[in-house]
Amino acid sequence: MDFALTGEQELLRDTLRDFARRELLPGYAARDKDEDLPPALVKKLGELGVLAPMVDAKHGGSGLDYVALGIAHEEIARGDFNAAYVLLLSALVGAIIARSADARQQAVFLPPICRGDLIPALGVTEPSGGSDAAHVKMQARRDGDSYLLTGEKTSISFSSCAGAALVMARTGTLEEGARGVSAFYVDLNSPGVTRTRFRDLGSRAIGRGQLFFDSVRVPAESRVGAEGAGFIQVMQGFDFSRSLIGLMCIGAAQQSVDETCAYVAEREAFGAPLARFEGVSFPLAEAAVRLRAARLLCYEALWLKDRGEPHGWLSAGAKWLAPELSAQVLHQCLLLHGHLGFSLDLPHQQRMRDVIGLEIGDGTAQIMKTLVAREIIGKVARPY
Ligand SMILES: Cc1cc2nc3c(=O)[nH]c(=O)nc-3n(C[C@H](O)[C@H](O)[C@H](O)COP(=O)(O)OP(=O)(O)OC[C@H]3O[C@@H](n4cnc5c(N)ncnc54)[C@H](O)[C@@H]3O)c2cc1C
Repeated sequence: MDFALTGEQELLRDTLRDFARRELLPGYAARDKDEDLPPALVKKLGELGVLAPMVDAKHGGSGLDYVALGIAHEEIARGDFNAAYVLLLSALVGAIIARSADARQQAVFLPPICRGDLIPALGVTEPSGGSDAAHVKMQARRDGDSYLLTGEKTSISFSSCAGAALVMARTGTLEEGARGVSAFYVDLNSPGVTRTRFRDLGSRAIGRGQLFFDSVRVPAESRVGAEGAGFIQVMQGFDFSRSLIGLMCIGAAQQSVDETCAYVAEREAFGAPLARFEGVSFPLAEAAVRLRAARLLCYEALWLKDRGEPHGWLSAGAKWLAPELSAQVLHQCLLLHGHLGFSLDLPHQQRMRDVIGLEIGDGTAQIMKTLVAREIIGKVARPY
């Protein structure tokens, strides 16, 4: 067993940690408002080579492996949790296109994503539900050389500013379930698309909201993969992206643990540094060890992904464990700052609000545990 990072991975970690500390952290609080991330920031992420790096180099990929991509999510989230969402959506949509799209589609769709010229969205969730994603109702009706898309996607990250979205829509019947769903890469500036932005508890900069499609004409050549294959493609993508989400949350929590360790070593009560009291030091010791364990789970799944080995249930476990643990750790860090922690001037509350979003987004803890149970017990544990 070898836990060492390669020289390349260490260099990436150090470079991104420095970037996050210098260029992201100072503006994180100011970006806690209902405004999109600055395009210059997104572009900078593209220049760092961390947007959809698995894509072929001729389309803009940078050749990072999945462990390195996990490092990137963790380090960027230390500075700004929401900047890491750009990495996440680019990786997820980029990987699906790289695997399932034809050569022409890859050449057109991928370079703007890798450069940070365009943030891609992923349109799965609908008003009737997100957990039961195989039963999306949005219609894609064939009309000559194109499809007409009609329906609503809701709770979509970057709905406010994404240039394009990989949208799941039904080309078959509802009875066909997952096998009746196809994927379309849709220009969100097309006629018939309208957007809204939610007022959210956290991650306000990702502009989560609705996408309405009113007979939106999408060329048939924008369908990614075969008809009826869209849902299955996305589910394969979620395997690794769940570990990336775990690492985003751990990065944010670890940053607060580091800041809180420094604070309790300085701040005094009863004539001694706070760190002298076990009621203060033990929660931080527990946080450090639990985060370390969750981090290992995430990286093990990504390491397996790099080796081409099954990792789905580990990633599902990471997606449940890491956001929940990180939210608890951030709450603890907030409390250890006393009254100051309750102020909007300190970042722990913002990180906690942001992390809670990914306890839900991309699948809840219950759905993740269902996936784990199915793996360790077998098909008999499938509730649906
Ligand atoms: C910050 C954020 C970002 C998001 N970004 C995107 C995005 O970019 N694209 C996108 O398509 N979606 C996105 N979503 C939507 C997200 O994927 C869904 O909210 C999620 O899958 C849950 O679906 P739902 O909200 O409809 O809840 P429901 O499916 O209605 O579930 C409600 C509750 O019931 C529980 N539940 C449901 N079924 C079961 C079951 N069988 N067993 C036990 N419990 C169950 C759930 O765990 C949950 O607690 C995002 C959500 C958030 C919060």
